[in-house]
Amino acid sequence: MAAQKTIVVGAGPVGSLAALYAAGRGDDVELYELRGDLRDPNTVPLNFTKSINLALSERGINSLRNANCPGLLEAVLNETIPMYGRMIHGQKNGELHEESQAYDVKGRAIRAVDRASLNKRLLDELEKMPNVKLNFNHKLVGADFKQNLAWFEKKSVPRTDHTQNPTQETSSSTSQEIEVKFDFMIGADGAHSAVRYHLMKFTRMDYMQEYIDTLWCEFHISPDNAEGSATSKYSGFKISPNHLHIWPGISFMFIAIPSLNKSFTSTLFLPADRFAELDADPSSLVPFFKEHFPGVVPDLISEEDLAKQYNENPHLPLINIKCSPYHFSGSCVIVGDAAHAMVPFYGQGMNAGLEDVRCLYEIIDADLASSQRWPRRAAALAAYSRLRQPDAHAINDLALHNYQEMRSDVRSPLYKLRKLLEERLSVWFPISGFATQYTRVSFGNERYSEIEHRVLRQGRVLLASSVVMLVGVASWAGWWAWRWHRMADSTKGLAKWFTWMGKRTEEFGRKFT
Ligand code: FAD
Repeated sequence: MAAQKTIVVGAGPVGSLAALYAAGRGDDVELYELRGDLRDPNTVPLNFTKSINLALSERGINSLRNANCPGLLEAVLNETIPMYGRMIHGQKNGELHEESQAYDVKGRAIRAVDRASLNKRLLDELEKMPNVKLNFNHKLVGADFKQNLAWFEKKSVPRTDHTQNPTQETSSSTSQEIEVKFDFMIGADGAHSAVRYHLMKFTRMDYMQEYIDTLWCEFHISPDNAEGSATSKYSGFKISPNHLHIWPGISFMFIAIPSLNKSFTSTLFLPADRFAELDADPSSLVPFFKEHFPGVVPDLISEEDLAKQYNENPHLPLINIKCSPYHFSGSCVIVGDAAHAMVPFYGQGMNAGLEDVRCLYEIIDADLASSQRWPRRAAALAAYSRLRQPDAHAINDLALHNYQEMRSDVRSPLYKLRKLLEERLSVWFPISGFATQYTRVSFGNERYSEIEHRVLRQGRVLLASSVVMLVGVASWAGWWAWRWHRMADSTKGLAKWFTWMGKRTEEFGRKFT
């Protein structure tokens, strides 16, 4: 049987992994990417930011492990830094204060990875495969999922130095439209997916999109100049490299994630109106940072650098997208941000997208036993949409709720108590199945929807047990109080009796003397 032609739209981390999975199964794979090759220094980076540091966790790692590419996972992990917990920054009695909160009672870590270097690794692997063709500067502009045809705008870009002005269009670039026939299309073209837009015309897709009232702006914390000297506590990093650093601010926050070159990529998350206030009065930027993110300016970023980066780096929106189903017949499916873009507060967007690919191919593999590939794939894609929708919706919701945890709850005694209880119970009574939500999401591969239910159940059990314990303690205390009172009463009675007896004895004695 001739190999089927699978085209993947979008060469981000998710599309590149999907292409690897398809190629590993013998398909003729063509990968189409709107931008240039990101391994080329002239390519304009995604979102015009220099780098996004991401947290890679078990789901992403497991999906890379299952790509059956010898050496890939090791190569990716070699370029990561383990983060064992959050470092919460603040002030105590007027002094800078840091509090380390481990992510996991068993000491497991999530890993800081540069999105671009992970993406490059995947593209390098694809380039080695004879059945893969990479097509950069190809923008999907149309698709017919009944005829299995796609149209791309192919741009010929002369080599120029884009680093001077990344937004500038090259006047001499030319474009032409090409038509591509395919058997199967995987849409991994991100939150503003063109594949999803065209898919909607063929399937009755429910679609929800919301922008949350927070923008993000990237900052850079350079390595410690005192590297190697006695003042460099963290061997060239300005702060601990094995933590995800958080400066919580109730309705906003500043975070920092380590990079291999000993710098940190930091992100300010702030409501749009607060950004507008800072824009309107630039002199308020440094005081704002000093008040809310103690220790950042000037220790980690100089005042001048802060202002420069704030003005030069874009202030970008955060989008939350839910849709369903993800497929049409046997010809197209969307994965990654194209199917479920989420806010970044659980560090799961990319991990969930990579997991999509593993789940999709697990279902397709199970169905490949049949020789009639097309109708079977239609059933497989329908099964995929059914399976994945509750999980994608669950992680979108969990990510939204986790913003509250990161910017505020991490300081709350109640939050810390619940975390402690769940962790202790998981260690002392492993049979109970107790684990924190964070552990379940980041260090396991349990379905997101299942986690949502289990954590809810766990919360109810904890609440009920706390109520029972409180009632028990209150009853015990009440009983002791009552006993003590009675004892006190009876002691008083006894004393009265002794006094009465004393008097009677005295009278009796007087009568007989
Ligand atoms: P994308 O990375 O968006 O890639 C889509 C690709 O498709 C792009 O290369 C684009 O050029 C291409 N494309 C677009 N349109 C077309 C078209 N018409 N034709 C052809 N190609 C097209 N996730 C985590 O797991 N952990 C984290 O810690 C984390 N932190 C984050 C922090 C921030 C500030 C943000 C914004 C996101 C974070 N994420 C994180 C989310 C993560 O970045 C995304 O979930 C992930 O990049 C999605 O990958 P993707 O391949 O689906 O889409």
